[in-house]
Amino acid sequence: MKRTIKDIDVNNKRVLLRVDFNVPLNESGEITDDTRIRLELPTIRYLLQHNAKVIICSHLGRPDGEKNPKYSLLPVAKYLVKELLGRVFFVSDCIGEEVEAKTKLLKPGEVLLLENVRFYKEEENNDPLFAKKLSKLADIYVDDAFGTAHRKHASNYGVASLLPNAVGFLMGKEINAIKSVIDNPTRPFVAILGGAKVSDKIPLLNNFVKKCDTILIGGGMAYTFLKALGHSVGNSLVDDDKIEIANQIMEKAKENNVKVVLPVDFLCAKDFSPNAKAKKFKGDIPDSYQGLDIGPKTIKLFKNEIMNANSLIWNGPLGVFEFKNFSKGTIKIAKLVLKFKGKAVVGGGDSVSAIKKVGSTDKIYHVSSGGGASLKLMAGEKLPGVEIIQDLEEK
Ligand code: AMP
Repeated sequence: MKRTIKDIDVNNKRVLLRVDFNVPLNESGEITDDTRIRLELPTIRYLLQHNAKVIICSHLGRPDGEKNPKYSLLPVAKYLVKELLGRVFFVSDCIGEEVEAKTKLLKPGEVLLLENVRFYKEEENNDPLFAKKLSKLADIYVDDAFGTAHRKHASNYGVASLLPNAVGFLMGKEINAIKSVIDNPTRPFVAILGGAKVSDKIPLLNNFVKKCDTILIGGGMAYTFLKALGHSVGNSLVDDDKIEIANQIMEKAKENNVKVVLPVDFLCAKDFSPNAKAKKFKGDIPDSYQGLDIGPKTIKLFKNEIMNANSLIWNGPLGVFEFKNFSKGTIKIAKLVLKFKGKAVVGGGDSVSAIKKVGSTDKIYHVSSGGGASLKLMAGEKLPGVEIIQDLEEK
């Protein structure tokens, strides 16, 4: 168990809080989705209420180590000023003497938002000198950036090794929720996997064949499995290099008594285009067609498994849901996950946006805020940004 902000004394201390404020901005620099900021407010409010001097750092976009106003965190500073009723200052750099001086002028209950840490290439290289400069800004380090926890960067891994540290509420919630379902599920435990590439999901599948009762596979990745079983899949997405691995995964599932359910019918098209007409096929797909969505019989099969489950994990769309004619499978599954009464964990940007299209995510047990990090945690892998944080016993 990692130390959380509730386990440390932050009173009158300068706390460097690493967050994920990587929010989408429009052409005019306005925030178009504030989810990531709203998720962070409980940690910020807690620190302010406990008289900390809060110094916030984050990345935004991919400035590739160069200062670029397009990726400035200034719009986030303006947002925070409104949310936190003043008390927020912004500084147009994230290291250096001027920034250090400003951290020393902060009063308890005030916030200083630093400029984008990825304006320095040293950030992603986990440069020790850069981490040292960041560490000079604070007495304590708190990591609440779950979205970057799978990375070993200066503003998470590097600085955490130099200061007393803890995780924030968001990081704590992500870890506890995902681990509680993966490691201690109420059975039956069903995983729904989709998306384009099998290669990205192999570590996940290797863990799920040990932990789940049933795995439902849809999306582009299903065709590699179907081809491995000898089906014709036409022009569908297939990762030929992974056919052997697909066979091994299905073999392992059999050994472990885990049911793998693959699509039995498909909505297909001749072209990969938003206006392509959908044609339904069962079992096999003719040469000139590619499978772009699961068909109605598969939806029914998946639905039966989901209704029978007590724990659920969903990662990846079941079809090319960006195209209206091929969005039905994903939308149906999103509706079922919304109605699910047990513990459901949803990870990955596409699955989360599909759910948001059909309703509010409030009633879902856990909707993960981090794509890559949640994939790794679900795969049973350790996250460097979490591992470096002190364990509770070490207090
Ligand atoms: P991933 O990042 O691997 O989760 O993949 C997400 C992408 O998979 C989405 O953009 C979907 O459009 C795409 N996808 C889902 N099903 C298919 C399919 N049958 N063929 C091609 N792409 C697909």
